[in-house]
Amino acid sequence: MSRTEEARRLAEAVPDPEIPVLTAGDLGLVRMVEEDGGRLVVRLTPTYSGCPASEAIRRDVEAALASGGFADAVVETSLAPAWTTDWMSEAGKTKLAAYGIAPPVRGPVSCPHCGGAAVEELSRFGSTPCKALWRCLGCREPFERFKCL
Ligand SMILES: [Zn+2]
Repeated sequence: MSRTEEARRLAEAVPDPEIPVLTAGDLGLVRMVEEDGGRLVVRLTPTYSGCPASEAIRRDVEAALASGGFADAVVETSLAPAWTTDWMSEAGKTKLAAYGIAPPVRGPVSCPHCGGAAVEELSRFGSTPCKALWRCLGCREPFERFKCL
């Protein structure tokens, strides 16, 4: 495995601070890993600019790279193009649903607990701005939905 492949593997394995079942790789945050004049540069795109988790995940990726032998790695933030939920992997969406959060799929929302289609939005904002609060009319369980961007 090359240095850049090894560094990408380390960066993509870092869990998301807000939704720890998802990794940076599941979310598609690692945009580029390259050698730049002997330095290793990792470019991350945060899910939501201004999301407090963005800075935390940048530090976590730096720490993971340092402990994996890339103490000289530079982690940069890349804001353009903006992150979209389309970059989330299918594996990531499956993990989100298993965690009880409806994944950001286009089309009708279904309950991550029972799969029911009779659902209603209670609030545009859940525990974080990137999630909305929904409720299932079938099993009566509330759930959060990761918004499509
Ligand atoms: Zn349900």
